[in-house]
Amino acid sequence: MSSQLVIEGVNKTFRSRGHVVQALSDVSLEVEPGEIVMLVGPSGCGKSTLLNVIAGLEKVDSGLLTIDGRPIEGPGPDRAVVFQDGALFPWLTVQKNVEFGLRQLGVSDKERAERASEFLANVGLAGFENRNIHELSGGMRQRVAIARALVTNPKVVLMDEPFSALDALTREDLYDQMQELWQASATSVIFVTHNVREAVTLGDRVVLMTPRPGRIQSIFDVRILRPRQVDDADVARLAKRISMEMKYGIGIDDVSEAMYI
Ligand code: ADP
Ligand code: MG
Repeated sequence: MSSQLVIEGVNKTFRSRGHVVQALSDVSLEVEPGEIVMLVGPSGCGKSTLLNVIAGLEKVDSGLLTIDGRPIEGPGPDRAVVFQDGALFPWLTVQKNVEFGLRQLGVSDKERAERASEFLANVGLAGFENRNIHELSGGMRQRVAIARALVTNPKVVLMDEPFSALDALTREDLYDQMQELWQASATSVIFVTHNVREAVTLGDRVVLMTPRPGRIQSIFDVRILRPRQVDDADVARLAKRISMEMKYGIGIDDVSEAMYI
């Protein structure tokens, strides 16, 4: 069976005020249906740029992106994006925010209401349907954003540091909920984070990018039983290895060897 999302030899440069910045250099990656891929790497390495080209919000200079064999040429209903600040509509209720994408797809009133309630319940927000966005905590807002992204049943959800503004306890709650939610779902997730522990807790694979221009440095398979906690020993161990590789550009075995020379 072919992969759902295929990224092949993608290059992307930005030109602003006479400067040329190469953000992505020859990035190739295949993401299977239902897979959770975490993107980590130093600040400015091109993580958001990669997410934005997958979303169809930025055009590539060269290379090809396809979903089920069809080229990505712009934003589409097969992909949904969750940003760091949730980007909810403050003038709509929780329920109406989640219904928004369904309305655009022409889903009937009744089905819209049912599906929105179902997805709000999935993220632990049953009973909050009629609240206003400003009444919610940061963690609740991100859960609304996630429900809104998933309710239209996209093939790929793209998340750009969605939990980075939240406190540690709220984040850990969300780790539990996300693992439960994603386990049952065929939606693929591509999730950008600068938090390596978060990447290992949530991911099926962790993709480490090099400093600018972003290329893929290494890909780690996370073979740790779920549900995972951020402070599990196995999670800590792999996170350490990835952090070392990010810092030194080589595997930890090589690092420890290098330290003895
Ligand atoms: P990350 O998300 O990994 O921190 P980004 O993808 O946001 O990195 O940025 C990668 C590089 O591309 C950075 O040097 C950034 O300044 C540059 N860049 C990103 N977007 C633009 C833009 N719209 N115009 C000019 N430069 C940009
Ligand atoms: Mg970014």
